[in-house]
Amino acid sequence: MDYLSLKEAPKREDRVHTCITYGGTLCGLQKRLGEGGGCFRDGSREFSQGSLCLLLPALAIINSFPDNVIIMHAAVGCGSCLQSQNGGARSGNMLRTGKIKDSIWVSTSLNETDVISGGEKKLRQAIVEVDQLYSPKTITIVTGCVPGIIGDDVDGIVEDLRSRVTAVLIPIHCEGFKTKTWATAYDAIYHGLGKNLLQDPARRDRVVTDELEEARFEYLKKRRVNLCNLSSMGRIDELELTRLLNALDLDVNIVPLFKDSEQMYSVKYAALSVSTCPTHDDYFLKFLNERFGIPYLFQHIPIGIENTTSWIRAVAPFFGKEAAAEQLIHYETALLEEALKPYREFFKGKTAFVSAGEFRSIATAYLLHELGFTIVGVRPFHYDAFAEKEFEKLKNAAGDIPLNIANVQPFEEANLLRSLKPDLFMGHSHGNATAAKLGIPVHTIFNSSCSYIGFRGVFEIARRVYRQLSNPSLNRKFPKYIKLPYKESWYQENPFKYIKDSKDES
Ligand code: SF4
Repeated sequence: MDYLSLKEAPKREDRVHTCITYGGTLCGLQKRLGEGGGCFRDGSREFSQGSLCLLLPALAIINSFPDNVIIMHAAVGCGSCLQSQNGGARSGNMLRTGKIKDSIWVSTSLNETDVISGGEKKLRQAIVEVDQLYSPKTITIVTGCVPGIIGDDVDGIVEDLRSRVTAVLIPIHCEGFKTKTWATAYDAIYHGLGKNLLQDPARRDRVVTDELEEARFEYLKKRRVNLCNLSSMGRIDELELTRLLNALDLDVNIVPLFKDSEQMYSVKYAALSVSTCPTHDDYFLKFLNERFGIPYLFQHIPIGIENTTSWIRAVAPFFGKEAAAEQLIHYETALLEEALKPYREFFKGKTAFVSAGEFRSIATAYLLHELGFTIVGVRPFHYDAFAEKEFEKLKNAAGDIPLNIANVQPFEEANLLRSLKPDLFMGHSHGNATAAKLGIPVHTIFNSSCSYIGFRGVFEIARRVYRQLSNPSLNRKFPKYIKLPYKESWYQENPFKYIKDSKDES
Protein backbone atom coordinates (compact mmCIF):
# COMPACT_ATOMS: atom_id res chain seq x y z
CA MET A 1 0.00 0.00 0.00
CA ASP A 2 1.25 3.51 -0.84
CA TYR A 3 1.13 5.01 2.65
CA LEU A 4 2.56 8.28 1.36
CA SER A 5 -0.84 9.30 0.05
CA LEU A 6 -1.93 9.48 3.72
CA LYS A 7 -1.45 12.62 5.79
CA GLU A 8 0.85 10.82 8.21
CA ALA A 9 2.45 7.41 8.58
CA PRO A 10 0.32 4.81 10.35
CA LYS A 11 1.62 3.64 13.68
CA ARG A 12 3.92 0.68 13.53
CA GLU A 13 1.63 -1.54 15.64
CA ASP A 14 -1.01 -1.34 12.89
CA ARG A 15 1.28 -1.45 9.86
CA VAL A 16 3.64 -4.32 10.72
CA HIS A 17 2.05 -5.77 13.90
CA THR A 18 4.94 -4.65 16.04
CA CYS A 19 5.11 -6.18 19.52
CA ILE A 20 7.03 -4.90 22.52
CA THR A 21 6.08 -7.42 25.19
CA TYR A 22 7.21 -11.01 25.33
CA GLY A 23 9.04 -13.18 27.79
CA GLY A 24 9.93 -16.75 26.90
CA THR A 25 12.35 -18.45 24.55
CA LEU A 26 13.12 -18.46 20.82
CA CYS A 27 11.11 -21.68 20.41
CA GLY A 28 8.25 -20.15 22.40
CA LEU A 29 8.19 -17.25 19.95
CA GLN A 30 8.02 -19.65 17.02
CA LYS A 31 5.23 -21.58 18.69
CA ARG A 32 3.32 -18.39 19.27
CA LEU A 33 3.82 -17.34 15.63
CA GLY A 34 2.60 -20.75 14.48
CA GLU A 35 -0.52 -20.44 16.61
CA GLY A 36 -1.21 -17.01 15.18
CA GLY A 37 -0.70 -18.06 11.55
CA GLY A 38 2.55 -16.04 11.37
CA CYS A 39 1.06 -13.16 13.33
CA PHE A 40 2.43 -12.48 16.81
CA ARG A 41 -0.11 -11.13 19.27
CA ASP A 42 1.48 -8.61 21.61
CA GLY A 43 1.39 -9.28 25.33
CA SER A 44 0.97 -6.65 28.00
CA ARG A 45 2.73 -5.80 31.25
CA GLU A 46 0.93 -5.49 34.55
CA PHE A 47 3.89 -3.42 35.66
CA SER A 48 5.94 -1.25 33.30
CA GLN A 49 9.07 0.51 34.46
CA GLY A 50 9.29 3.05 31.67
CA SER A 51 8.81 3.87 28.04
CA LEU A 52 10.46 5.95 25.38
CA CYS A 53 8.94 8.61 23.14
CA LEU A 54 9.51 8.29 19.40
CA LEU A 55 10.81 11.87 19.40
CA LEU A 56 14.17 10.69 20.72
CA PRO A 57 15.23 8.60 17.69
CA ALA A 58 13.35 10.89 15.30
CA LEU A 59 15.24 14.00 16.34
CA ALA A 60 18.62 12.25 16.30
CA ILE A 61 18.02 11.53 12.61
CA ILE A 62 16.46 14.86 11.63
CA ASN A 63 19.40 16.58 13.32
CA SER A 64 21.66 15.22 10.61
CA PHE A 65 19.90 16.94 7.70
CA PRO A 66 22.18 19.68 6.37
CA ASP A 67 20.88 23.25 6.08
CA ASN A 68 17.73 22.41 7.99
CA VAL A 69 16.03 24.07 10.95
CA ILE A 70 13.81 22.03 13.26
CA ILE A 71 10.67 23.68 14.61
CA MET A 72 9.42 21.68 17.57
CA HIS A 73 5.68 22.30 17.66
CA ALA A 74 5.18 20.93 21.15
CA ALA A 75 5.51 21.61 24.85
CA VAL A 76 8.90 23.05 25.70
CA GLY A 77 10.25 19.84 27.25
CA CYS A 78 9.68 17.80 24.08
CA GLY A 79 12.86 17.83 22.09
CA SER A 80 15.11 18.70 25.02
CA CYS A 81 17.19 15.71 23.88
CA LEU A 82 18.31 17.88 20.96
CA GLN A 83 20.86 19.50 23.26
CA SER A 84 22.72 16.25 23.78
CA GLN A 85 22.18 15.02 20.23
CA ASN A 86 23.95 18.01 18.73
CA GLY A 87 27.29 16.28 19.30
CA GLY A 88 26.28 13.59 16.79
CA ALA A 89 25.32 16.23 14.22
CA ARG A 90 28.65 18.02 14.68
CA SER A 91 30.84 14.95 14.38
CA GLY A 92 28.73 13.48 11.54
CA ASN A 93 29.06 16.68 9.52
CA MET A 94 32.77 16.85 10.23
CA LEU A 95 33.32 13.31 8.97
CA ARG A 96 31.34 13.86 5.79
CA THR A 97 32.09 17.47 4.86
CA GLY A 98 35.19 18.37 6.85
CA LYS A 99 33.24 21.11 8.63
CA ILE A 100 31.74 21.22 12.10
CA LYS A 101 28.12 22.29 11.94
CA ASP A 102 25.62 22.65 14.75
CA SER A 103 21.99 21.73 14.28
CA ILE A 104 19.48 24.55 14.74
CA TRP A 105 16.20 24.05 16.49
CA VAL A 106 13.48 26.25 17.94
CA SER A 107 10.28 25.45 19.82
CA THR A 108 6.81 26.95 19.76
CA SER A 109 6.84 26.07 23.46
CA LEU A 110 3.12 25.41 23.81
CA ASN A 111 1.72 26.23 27.25
CA GLU A 112 -1.58 25.91 29.14
CA THR A 113 -3.11 28.89 27.31
CA ASP A 114 -2.25 27.36 23.93
CA VAL A 115 -3.91 24.12 24.98
CA ILE A 116 -7.15 26.11 25.39
CA SER A 117 -6.87 28.53 22.48
CA GLY A 118 -4.77 26.49 20.01
CA GLY A 119 -1.16 26.70 18.88
CA GLU A 120 -1.68 27.41 15.17
CA LYS A 121 -0.86 31.11 15.38
CA LYS A 122 2.45 30.38 17.09
CA LEU A 123 3.36 27.81 14.46
CA ARG A 124 2.62 30.16 11.56
CA GLN A 125 4.74 32.84 13.15
CA ALA A 126 7.58 30.41 13.85
CA ILE A 127 7.70 29.13 10.25
CA VAL A 128 7.85 32.63 8.76
CA GLU A 129 10.42 33.86 11.29
CA VAL A 130 12.69 30.84 10.87
CA ASP A 131 12.57 31.21 7.09
CA GLN A 132 13.56 34.88 7.28
CA LEU A 133 16.12 34.54 10.05
CA TYR A 134 18.05 31.45 8.91
CA SER A 135 17.11 31.07 5.22
CA PRO A 136 17.46 27.26 5.45
CA LYS A 137 16.87 24.94 2.51
CA THR A 138 14.37 22.95 4.60
CA ILE A 139 12.30 23.46 7.73
CA THR A 140 11.14 20.29 9.47
CA ILE A 141 8.07 20.86 11.61
CA VAL A 142 8.11 18.14 14.24
CA THR A 143 4.93 17.74 16.25
CA GLY A 144 4.68 16.46 19.83
CA CYS A 145 1.62 15.32 21.76
CA VAL A 146 -0.01 18.71 22.44
CA PRO A 147 -0.93 19.73 18.86
CA GLY A 148 -2.18 16.18 18.27
CA ILE A 149 -4.44 16.36 21.32
CA ILE A 150 -5.80 19.88 20.76
CA GLY A 151 -6.21 19.32 17.00
CA ASP A 152 -3.90 21.95 15.46
CA ASP A 153 -4.10 21.70 11.66
CA VAL A 154 -0.33 21.47 11.14
CA ASP A 155 -0.55 20.15 7.57
CA GLY A 156 -3.09 22.85 6.63
CA ILE A 157 -0.75 25.57 7.89
CA VAL A 158 2.17 24.06 6.01
CA GLU A 159 0.21 23.94 2.75
CA ASP A 160 -0.93 27.52 3.25
CA LEU A 161 2.60 28.82 3.89
CA ARG A 162 4.47 26.86 1.22
CA SER A 163 4.23 29.61 -1.40
CA ARG A 164 5.15 32.32 1.12
CA VAL A 165 8.46 30.92 2.33
CA THR A 166 11.65 29.97 0.51
CA ALA A 167 12.41 26.81 2.47
CA VAL A 168 10.84 23.46 1.67
CA LEU A 169 8.48 22.65 4.55
CA ILE A 170 8.48 19.08 5.89
CA PRO A 171 5.93 18.16 8.56
CA ILE A 172 6.94 15.11 10.62
CA HIS A 173 4.28 13.76 12.97
CA CYS A 174 5.76 12.42 16.20
CA GLU A 175 2.91 12.65 18.70
CA GLY A 176 4.19 10.37 21.44
CA PHE A 177 0.79 9.27 22.73
CA LYS A 178 -0.14 7.63 19.41
CA THR A 179 2.33 4.74 19.58
CA LYS A 180 4.21 2.66 22.12
CA THR A 181 6.82 1.71 19.52
CA TRP A 182 9.56 4.22 18.97
CA ALA A 183 10.35 2.60 15.61
CA THR A 184 7.28 4.46 14.32
CA ALA A 185 9.69 7.43 14.20
CA TYR A 186 11.48 5.88 11.22
CA ASP A 187 8.26 5.67 9.21
CA ALA A 188 7.32 9.22 10.20
CA ILE A 189 10.63 10.59 8.89
CA TYR A 190 10.57 8.68 5.61
CA HIS A 191 6.95 9.78 5.20
CA GLY A 192 7.94 13.44 5.50
CA LEU A 193 10.94 13.08 3.18
CA GLY A 194 9.08 11.00 0.60
CA LYS A 195 6.23 13.47 0.40
CA ASN A 196 8.33 16.61 0.22
CA LEU A 197 11.84 16.03 -1.11
CA LEU A 198 11.59 13.83 -4.18
CA GLN A 199 10.93 16.58 -6.71
CA ASP A 200 13.88 17.29 -8.96
CA PRO A 201 13.59 21.08 -9.24
CA ALA A 202 16.06 21.55 -12.09
CA ARG A 203 14.46 18.84 -14.23
CA ARG A 204 10.92 20.00 -13.46
CA ASP A 205 11.53 23.62 -14.50
CA ARG A 206 13.60 22.86 -17.59
CA VAL A 207 11.99 23.74 -20.94
CA VAL A 208 14.49 21.92 -23.18
CA THR A 209 15.57 18.35 -22.36
CA ASP A 210 19.20 18.05 -21.23
CA GLU A 211 20.26 14.94 -23.12
CA LEU A 212 23.51 14.51 -21.25
CA GLU A 213 21.75 14.57 -17.91
CA GLU A 214 19.05 12.20 -19.14
CA ALA A 215 21.79 9.78 -20.24
CA ARG A 216 23.30 10.03 -16.77
CA PHE A 217 19.96 9.19 -15.17
CA GLU A 218 19.63 6.18 -17.45
CA TYR A 219 23.12 5.04 -16.42
CA LEU A 220 22.24 5.42 -12.71
CA LYS A 221 19.11 3.37 -13.22
CA LYS A 222 21.36 0.50 -14.29
CA ARG A 223 24.33 0.77 -11.90
CA ARG A 224 23.34 2.70 -8.82
CA VAL A 225 22.41 1.28 -5.44
CA ASN A 226 20.48 3.33 -2.88
CA LEU A 227 22.13 2.37 0.38
CA CYS A 228 19.71 3.32 3.12
CA ASN A 229 21.14 4.64 6.35
CA LEU A 230 18.59 5.99 8.78
CA SER A 231 21.05 6.00 11.69
CA SER A 232 21.85 2.31 11.20
CA MET A 233 25.56 3.04 10.89
CA GLY A 234 28.25 5.64 11.35
CA ARG A 235 30.53 6.99 8.62
CA ILE A 236 33.09 4.24 9.12
CA ASP A 237 30.43 1.58 8.36
CA GLU A 238 29.11 3.58 5.40
CA LEU A 239 32.62 3.45 3.96
CA GLU A 240 32.86 -0.31 4.53
CA LEU A 241 29.61 -1.07 2.66
CA THR A 242 30.54 1.42 -0.07
CA ARG A 243 33.89 -0.35 -0.45
CA LEU A 244 32.17 -3.72 -0.87
CA LEU A 245 29.62 -2.39 -3.39
CA ASN A 246 32.30 -0.46 -5.30
CA ALA A 247 34.23 -3.73 -5.57
CA LEU A 248 31.27 -5.00 -7.62
CA ASP A 249 31.60 -1.91 -9.81
CA LEU A 250 28.43 -0.33 -8.42
CA ASP A 251 27.67 3.32 -7.81
CA VAL A 252 26.46 4.01 -4.24
CA ASN A 253 23.97 6.66 -3.11
CA ILE A 254 23.70 6.86 0.69
CA VAL A 255 20.37 8.22 1.93
CA PRO A 256 18.96 9.94 3.93
CA LEU A 257 21.33 10.57 6.87
CA PHE A 258 23.33 13.78 6.29
CA LYS A 259 21.96 13.93 2.73
CA ASP A 260 21.67 17.37 1.20
CA SER A 261 17.95 18.04 0.71
CA GLU A 262 18.52 19.15 -2.89
CA GLN A 263 20.08 15.76 -3.63
CA MET A 264 17.38 13.61 -2.06
CA TYR A 265 15.48 13.43 -5.36
CA SER A 266 18.36 11.37 -6.81
CA VAL A 267 17.04 8.39 -4.86
CA LYS A 268 14.57 7.95 -7.75
CA TYR A 269 17.38 7.10 -10.17
CA ALA A 270 18.70 3.74 -9.02
CA ALA A 271 18.67 0.10 -10.06
CA LEU A 272 18.21 -1.21 -6.54
CA SER A 273 17.53 -0.02 -2.99
CA VAL A 274 19.30 -1.91 -0.22
CA SER A 275 18.49 -1.71 3.43
CA THR A 276 21.14 -1.59 6.10
CA CYS A 277 18.57 -2.27 8.82
CA PRO A 278 15.10 -3.56 7.84
CA THR A 279 13.50 -2.01 10.95
CA HIS A 280 14.63 1.37 9.71
CA ASP A 281 14.06 1.09 6.01
CA ASP A 282 11.13 -1.09 4.97
CA TYR A 283 8.67 1.83 4.76
CA PHE A 284 10.79 3.79 2.28
CA LEU A 285 11.98 0.82 0.22
CA LYS A 286 8.42 -0.28 -0.43
CA PHE A 287 7.43 3.25 -1.33
CA LEU A 288 10.31 3.61 -3.84
CA ASN A 289 9.30 0.30 -5.33
CA GLU A 290 5.61 1.15 -5.64
CA ARG A 291 6.11 4.70 -6.92
CA PHE A 292 9.26 4.37 -9.07
CA GLY A 293 9.56 0.63 -9.68
CA ILE A 294 12.92 0.32 -7.91
CA PRO A 295 13.43 -3.24 -6.61
CA TYR A 296 14.64 -3.58 -3.04
CA LEU A 297 16.45 -5.89 -0.66
CA PHE A 298 15.88 -6.01 3.03
CA GLN A 299 16.92 -9.08 4.93
CA HIS A 300 19.14 -8.30 7.86
CA ILE A 301 21.82 -5.92 9.02
CA PRO A 302 25.19 -6.96 7.47
CA ILE A 303 26.84 -7.58 10.85
CA GLY A 304 28.81 -10.83 11.04
CA ILE A 305 30.47 -13.09 8.48
CA GLU A 306 27.41 -14.98 7.26
CA ASN A 307 25.19 -11.88 7.26
CA THR A 308 27.73 -9.87 5.26
CA THR A 309 28.36 -12.59 2.69
CA SER A 310 24.65 -13.27 2.15
CA TRP A 311 24.05 -9.50 1.89
CA ILE A 312 26.62 -9.29 -0.94
CA ARG A 313 25.25 -12.45 -2.56
CA ALA A 314 21.76 -10.98 -2.56
CA VAL A 315 22.89 -7.74 -4.27
CA ALA A 316 25.08 -9.35 -6.95
CA PRO A 317 22.40 -11.06 -9.14
CA PHE A 318 20.65 -7.74 -9.81
CA PHE A 319 23.74 -6.70 -11.77
CA GLY A 320 24.99 -10.05 -13.08
CA LYS A 321 27.92 -9.85 -10.64
CA GLU A 322 27.66 -13.29 -9.03
CA ALA A 323 31.17 -14.38 -10.03
CA ALA A 324 32.75 -11.12 -8.87
CA ALA A 325 30.83 -11.40 -5.59
CA GLU A 326 32.18 -14.91 -4.96
CA GLN A 327 35.72 -13.73 -5.67
CA LEU A 328 35.28 -10.81 -3.30
CA ILE A 329 33.83 -13.00 -0.56
CA HIS A 330 36.59 -15.58 -0.95
CA TYR A 331 39.31 -12.95 -0.71
CA GLU A 332 37.75 -11.05 2.20
CA THR A 333 36.85 -14.07 4.32
CA ALA A 334 40.31 -15.60 3.88
CA LEU A 335 41.90 -12.39 5.14
CA LEU A 336 39.40 -12.14 7.96
CA GLU A 337 39.86 -15.72 9.15
CA GLU A 338 43.60 -15.15 9.34
CA ALA A 339 43.07 -11.97 11.35
CA LEU A 340 40.62 -13.65 13.73
CA LYS A 341 42.90 -16.54 14.62
CA PRO A 342 44.39 -14.96 17.78
CA TYR A 343 40.91 -14.30 19.18
CA ARG A 344 38.95 -17.45 18.44
CA GLU A 345 40.54 -19.63 21.14
CA PHE A 346 40.03 -16.90 23.73
CA PHE A 347 36.30 -16.50 22.92
CA LYS A 348 35.57 -20.22 22.78
CA GLY A 349 32.91 -21.21 25.32
CA LYS A 350 32.49 -17.72 26.77
CA THR A 351 28.86 -16.69 27.20
CA ALA A 352 27.15 -13.55 25.92
CA PHE A 353 23.82 -11.76 26.28
CA VAL A 354 22.77 -9.20 23.65
CA SER A 355 20.30 -6.33 23.90
CA ALA A 356 19.42 -3.77 21.20
CA GLY A 357 16.98 -3.03 18.40
CA GLU A 358 15.53 -6.16 16.87
CA PHE A 359 17.75 -6.68 13.81
CA ARG A 360 20.94 -5.38 15.45
CA SER A 361 20.53 -7.61 18.50
CA ILE A 362 19.85 -10.74 16.42
CA ALA A 363 22.70 -10.06 13.97
CA THR A 364 25.19 -9.22 16.72
CA ALA A 365 24.25 -12.36 18.66
CA TYR A 366 24.83 -14.33 15.47
CA LEU A 367 28.24 -12.69 15.00
CA LEU A 368 29.27 -13.52 18.59
CA HIS A 369 28.18 -17.11 17.94
CA GLU A 370 30.41 -17.13 14.84
CA LEU A 371 33.32 -15.92 16.97
CA GLY A 372 32.88 -18.83 19.39
CA PHE A 373 30.65 -17.38 22.10
CA THR A 374 27.72 -19.29 23.54
CA ILE A 375 24.68 -17.03 23.38
CA VAL A 376 22.65 -17.31 26.59
CA GLY A 377 19.94 -14.73 25.96
CA VAL A 378 18.77 -11.98 23.67
CA ARG A 379 16.64 -8.94 24.31
CA PRO A 380 15.33 -7.11 21.23
CA PHE A 381 13.42 -3.88 21.84
CA HIS A 382 10.53 -5.01 19.65
CA TYR A 383 9.37 -7.59 17.13
CA ASP A 384 8.22 -6.80 13.58
CA ALA A 385 6.27 -9.15 11.33
CA PHE A 386 9.15 -9.39 8.84
CA ALA A 387 11.83 -10.49 11.35
CA GLU A 388 10.71 -14.12 11.74
CA LYS A 389 13.40 -15.57 9.50
CA GLU A 390 16.19 -13.87 11.44
CA PHE A 391 14.87 -15.17 14.77
CA GLU A 392 14.77 -18.65 13.30
CA LYS A 393 18.33 -18.31 12.06
CA LEU A 394 19.48 -17.42 15.56
CA LYS A 395 17.50 -20.27 17.09
CA ASN A 396 19.19 -22.74 14.73
CA ALA A 397 22.59 -21.41 15.76
CA ALA A 398 22.14 -20.74 19.47
CA GLY A 399 19.34 -23.14 20.46
CA ASP A 400 16.25 -22.43 22.49
CA ILE A 401 17.67 -19.52 24.50
CA PRO A 402 15.72 -17.02 26.65
CA LEU A 403 14.10 -14.20 24.70
CA ASN A 404 12.83 -10.99 26.26
CA ILE A 405 11.13 -8.52 23.93
CA ALA A 406 11.14 -5.32 25.92
CA ASN A 407 10.98 -1.64 25.20
CA VAL A 408 13.02 -0.45 28.26
CA GLN A 409 12.02 -2.58 31.39
CA PRO A 410 15.49 -3.01 32.99
CA PHE A 411 13.98 -4.86 35.97
CA GLU A 412 13.29 -7.88 33.73
CA GLU A 413 16.79 -7.65 32.32
CA ALA A 414 18.38 -7.45 35.81
CA ASN A 415 16.53 -10.61 36.89
CA LEU A 416 17.57 -12.49 33.75
CA LEU A 417 21.20 -11.39 33.90
CA ARG A 418 21.58 -12.30 37.58
CA SER A 419 20.64 -15.89 36.82
CA LEU A 420 22.34 -16.23 33.42
CA LYS A 421 25.61 -14.57 34.53
CA PRO A 422 27.04 -14.03 31.01
CA ASP A 423 30.73 -13.29 30.49
CA LEU A 424 29.78 -10.44 28.17
CA PHE A 425 26.82 -8.11 27.77
CA MET A 426 26.44 -6.14 24.56
CA GLY A 427 23.89 -3.34 24.57
CA HIS A 428 23.52 0.32 23.72
CA SER A 429 25.51 2.82 25.76
CA HIS A 430 22.31 4.00 27.47
CA GLY A 431 21.31 0.39 28.23
CA ASN A 432 24.53 -1.06 29.60
CA ALA A 433 24.20 0.21 33.16
CA THR A 434 22.12 -2.67 34.54
CA ALA A 435 24.63 -5.28 33.40
CA ALA A 436 27.59 -3.15 34.47
CA LYS A 437 26.16 -2.74 37.99
CA LEU A 438 25.80 -6.52 38.20
CA GLY A 439 29.52 -6.83 37.53
CA ILE A 440 29.17 -8.09 33.96
CA PRO A 441 31.72 -6.80 31.41
CA VAL A 442 29.85 -4.68 28.89
CA HIS A 443 30.60 -3.61 25.36
CA THR A 444 28.65 -0.97 23.42
CA ILE A 445 26.67 -2.48 20.57
CA PHE A 446 26.54 0.69 18.50
CA ASN A 447 28.65 3.80 18.59
CA SER A 448 28.71 5.76 15.35
CA SER A 449 32.46 6.35 15.57
CA CYS A 450 33.31 2.62 15.72
CA SER A 451 33.17 -0.12 13.11
CA TYR A 452 30.49 -2.86 13.35
CA ILE A 453 29.35 -3.67 9.82
CA GLY A 454 30.82 -5.76 7.01
CA PHE A 455 34.05 -7.77 7.20
CA ARG A 456 35.89 -4.92 8.85
CA GLY A 457 33.18 -4.77 11.52
CA VAL A 458 33.67 -8.45 12.40
CA PHE A 459 37.36 -7.93 13.03
CA GLU A 460 36.94 -4.65 14.89
CA ILE A 461 34.25 -6.07 17.20
CA ALA A 462 36.44 -9.11 17.90
CA ARG A 463 39.41 -6.89 18.66
CA ARG A 464 37.48 -4.55 20.97
CA VAL A 465 35.67 -7.35 22.82
CA TYR A 466 38.97 -9.20 23.27
CA ARG A 467 40.48 -6.11 24.83
CA GLN A 468 37.46 -5.68 27.07
CA LEU A 469 37.40 -9.27 28.28
CA SER A 470 41.17 -9.48 28.73
CA ASN A 471 40.82 -7.15 31.67
CA PRO A 472 37.23 -6.88 32.92
CA SER A 473 38.20 -5.73 36.41
CA LEU A 474 36.42 -2.35 36.11
CA ASN A 475 33.02 -3.98 35.60
CA ARG A 476 33.76 -6.81 38.01
CA LYS A 477 34.38 -4.31 40.81
CA PHE A 478 31.27 -2.17 40.22
CA PRO A 479 28.86 -4.20 42.43
CA LYS A 480 31.05 -3.50 45.45
CA TYR A 481 30.26 0.18 45.17
CA ILE A 482 27.01 0.52 43.17
CA LYS A 483 23.79 -1.40 43.77
CA LEU A 484 20.73 -1.86 41.61
CA PRO A 485 17.49 -0.75 43.30
CA TYR A 486 15.73 -4.16 43.32
CA LYS A 487 15.00 -6.23 46.42
CA GLU A 488 16.71 -9.59 46.72
CA SER A 489 13.27 -11.24 46.52
CA TRP A 490 12.80 -9.94 42.94
CA TYR A 491 15.73 -12.02 41.74
CA GLN A 492 13.98 -15.17 43.03
CA GLU A 493 10.92 -14.42 40.89
CA ASN A 494 10.13 -15.35 37.32
CA PRO A 495 11.67 -12.49 35.24
CA PHE A 496 8.49 -12.38 33.14
CA LYS A 497 6.13 -12.43 36.12
CA TYR A 498 4.41 -9.21 35.05
CA ILE A 499 3.91 -10.18 31.41
CA LYS A 500 0.42 -11.36 30.61
CA ASP A 501 0.00 -14.16 28.05
CA SER A 502 3.61 -15.32 28.31
CA LYS A 503 3.81 -17.14 31.62
CA ASP A 504 3.30 -20.56 30.06
CA GLU A 505 6.49 -20.18 28.03
CA SER A 506 8.84 -18.69 30.60
S1 SF4 B 1 5.39 11.68 24.87
FE1 SF4 B 1 4.42 13.54 24.02
S2 SF4 B 1 4.79 15.10 25.58
FE2 SF4 B 1 6.23 13.43 26.01
S3 SF4 B 1 8.12 13.98 24.91
FE3 SF4 B 1 6.91 12.68 23.54
S4 SF4 B 1 5.73 14.13 22.30
FE4 SF4 B 1 6.46 15.27 24.08
